Amino acid sequence: MEQFKRTEKEFSFETEILKQGAYINALASNPETAPIYLTTAFNVEDLDDLYDRYEKKGFCYNRNRNPNRNALIELMTYAEGGEDSIICSSGMGAISTTIFSQVKCGDHIVSDMTLYGETIDIFKEVLPAYGVEVTFVDFTKLEEVERAIKSETKILYTETVSNPMITVVDIDGAAKLAHDNNCILVVDNTFMTSVAFRPIAHGADLVINSLTKFANGHSDAVCGSVTGKAELIQKAYRYQVLLGNTADAFTSWLVQRGMRTMSLRIEKQMKNAAKLAKALEESPYVLKVNHPSLMSHPQHELAMKLFGNEYSCGGMLSIVLPDSMEKINLFMRKLNLAHYAMTLGGYRTTLAHPVSSSHYDTPEEERAKMGITLGLIRISVGIEKAEDLIHDFLEALNVYKE
Ligand SMILES: *Cc1c(COP(=O)(O)O)cnc(C)c1O
Repeated sequence: MEQFKRTEKEFSFETEILKQGAYINALASNPETAPIYLTTAFNVEDLDDLYDRYEKKGFCYNRNRNPNRNALIELMTYAEGGEDSIICSSGMGAISTTIFSQVKCGDHIVSDMTLYGETIDIFKEVLPAYGVEVTFVDFTKLEEVERAIKSETKILYTETVSNPMITVVDIDGAAKLAHDNNCILVVDNTFMTSVAFRPIAHGADLVINSLTKFANGHSDAVCGSVTGKAELIQKAYRYQVLLGNTADAFTSWLVQRGMRTMSLRIEKQMKNAAKLAKALEESPYVLKVNHPSLMSHPQHELAMKLFGNEYSCGGMLSIVLPDSMEKINLFMRKLNLAHYAMTLGGYRTTLAHPVSSSHYDTPEEERAKMGITLGLIRISVGIEKAEDLIHDFLEALNVYKE
């Protein structure tokens, strides 16, 4: 085997200390699990070698390409059923790169009004400065979407299920509207993941995932992806390299590792969520439960059509408790398992309080329009034993008995 840069020549200690052990010169291909390529660059023998790498899309510089990031690109492209992907340093990196690469000054976006808070901030605070206008409508009413489309509209943007009301969007219908009007449909699939739903198979052109959440599932890495048509991804990749929001090697490695158990985890999370939703709906202290598995959910029928059955409706739900901060605090303190966390999709059950977090800055009347009240609690269901989880919630709800 040819050894890279090995020579009989001997240099001084302070030089050799940099050289010795710099390359692995024994057979090291196909390790059982992928090594982490913590390197900013890859060495080449000469310029022929360099041009060969350019041509074969080999590895030269980390911001452009890294083996761990490429491995995750392959995995995500498969998972979402697209042609290609980019992997970003966060879900927001994926969202901003997608938007900046697909619109220009004078363009218009029609967006759902209940998106992830910071996506709305990009649309409201950042895009107007670049001459891009956004109209917000309720995507559960496609006639509203249709009315908002103009000749300048380039993107229809929605999440598969909304936060925190867990409403469901007719993705096939939205895709048809987009394509009939020369637009692309961009879907943020973070809450559902490819385990439960694959928007591309329903006509979406680009799918975004915050891999920080269910996909990685271990609450230890921040990462995001965009998957879809090769031509659109190529454009997004060019912007990503220039904006510099590529995911680093270690994060990419963590996420591909987390995703290996994604089916196991998310199937259990979805089953637990449906069971918990049913149990909470029967509690006299819970005013309302929002989960697509329930007959009472406004898009229950659509959810069955899109997701298949009650145990495939996602791991996110929300409940409405009476509007008393004091009682909510008591309830939160009494829960042994579910705990407050500013994230979601991890293997343990977590809670969020939209009025105090994602919609803290939203004016009260706008919140009321979306159904976001003081008593609204969002639950991200984990992989605990369902009975333990249900028992813990029902016991904590006894604070409303007094
Ligand atoms: C968390 C989240 C994001 C943003 O992802 P980050 O990884 O935190 O940047 C985008 N969309 C949805 C639906 C999310 O839940």
